[in-house]
Amino acid sequence: MDALENAGRQPASVYRECTIFTTLSPCSMCSGTILLYGILRVIVDENRTFMGEEELLRSRGVSVEVLQNEECIRLMEEFIRNNPTLWNEDIGV
Ligand SMILES: [Zn+2]
Repeated sequence: MDALENAGRQPASVYRECTIFTTLSPCSMCSGTILLYGILRVIVDENRTFMGEEELLRSRGVSVEVLQNEECIRLMEEFIRNNPTLWNEDIGV
């Protein structure tokens, strides 16, 4: 959401040619935004610590590649271990 806000207002034609890079698998809100903006390609660093709406994105024609970046997995596991209350709040648990 920050990346899209920081990109400013762009015409739809720009978003259709964009690739968005995400640390985690996109949550419902981010996936909805990706669909709304018409972004057709998502590269996800990892989806082991959190599985978002990848199937929804794929079902709507979005290319989703998951890298399973070991450094990201390690950082997220450490963050979750050190901040369980914040993490659970973020993912709605
Ligand atoms: Zn999100």
